[in-house]
Amino acid sequence: MSKVETKKGYFGEFGGSFVPEPLQAALDHLEVAFEQYKDDPEFIEELNYYMKEYVGRPNPLYYAERLTEKLGGAKIYLKREDLNHTGAHKINNVMGQVLLAKRMGVKRVIAETGAGQHGVATATACAMFGMECVVYMGAVDAKRQALNVFRMELLGAQVVAVQDGAQTLKEAVDAALTDYAQNYENTFYLLGSAVGPHPYPTIVRHFQSIIGQEARAQHLEKEGRLPDYVVACVGGGSNAIGLFAPFFNDSDVKIVGVEPGGRGLSTGDHAAPLSAGEPGVLHGFKCYMMKDENGEIASTHSVAAGLDYPGVGPEHSYYKAIGRADYVAIEDQEALAAFHTLSRAEGIIPAIESSHAVAYALKLAPTLSSEQTIIVNVSGRGDKDVQQVFDMMQQKKV
Ligand SMILES: *Cc1c(COP(=O)(O)O)cnc(C)c1O
Repeated sequence: MSKVETKKGYFGEFGGSFVPEPLQAALDHLEVAFEQYKDDPEFIEELNYYMKEYVGRPNPLYYAERLTEKLGGAKIYLKREDLNHTGAHKINNVMGQVLLAKRMGVKRVIAETGAGQHGVATATACAMFGMECVVYMGAVDAKRQALNVFRMELLGAQVVAVQDGAQTLKEAVDAALTDYAQNYENTFYLLGSAVGPHPYPTIVRHFQSIIGQEARAQHLEKEGRLPDYVVACVGGGSNAIGLFAPFFNDSDVKIVGVEPGGRGLSTGDHAAPLSAGEPGVLHGFKCYMMKDENGEIASTHSVAAGLDYPGVGPEHSYYKAIGRADYVAIEDQEALAAFHTLSRAEGIIPAIESSHAVAYALKLAPTLSSEQTIIVNVSGRGDKDVQQVFDMMQQKKV
């Protein structure tokens, strides 16, 4: 149990496991295996090997000197998750969970994906370890993200287009959960963010914490002290909790999570449950979530597909409740402006998701002194988003 897990599987009142009995049996089985292997020296050695040789870790904590000079204020450091193999932080969690599946003697991995990024990362690791991989995707999403479907298939995965309901992420999650409950003895459900029922938020935090562990040590080495701020974008919350958790006990380090404000919090067209939602239960766990007037899950919007989720990890919900972190919202237009600014100032094209964190840093840095520092997590590279931004500019939406 970690320091912040107040009761097993709970972060304050958030988290837990609200699932039917067959699924609970699968989750119990997973929890036992995770507890058994996570501190096992051989497991750690194998994970470290692939993190270095395959993912390319450690990635740099890069001092963005030109951006800092342009803004005039705090020094900005970029944690370069965009330099990982497959171009984002998601691979950290995928490698950890695939190795766990391997230890459990499981040869079939399933996942669900909305925009396709997690599906591609999972298909990548399964290819490398020779595991069978099935990725559930809503039929509408599969059509919208045809190129990511092709990537997964190139990597040897089977993509199942789910035809139920609205044919998007929710239906894909339901299909994956049904498969898992039926087949857990020979199947591993690889969840992509710090969400879902216990033990997933804990597992994902564990494997993503490499981000914050590296960043903390790198900042200490470069500056001889800890940073003043750590900033990351929050969709489900995995890249953010990975950066934040190792700073939890450093009470002088301010933690800021940046949610997608979409067209503006007042319009309702956003995906910012911590900024404008309320507690509730969704997808088997308790968290801040976006509700409509009937208390049902509200529809969401963000220019960044990877941030477009109506809930958020239970640990972030707890950080907010106890005031350990601040959660702010950045709108689509601000994120798109930051996408351009970082590209021009540093020659680094950030993912539109990451651009939300960058946008907040652009506002924050000038309000601070040149003695202070900010670490911004560049959760992924923006190559995947260039076409989308191009199309929006053609349509003069930017
Ligand atoms: C998926 C994704 C995110 C959002 O997921 P989290 O679990 O909130 O980290 C952020 N950035 C990039 C580049 C992504 O691919």
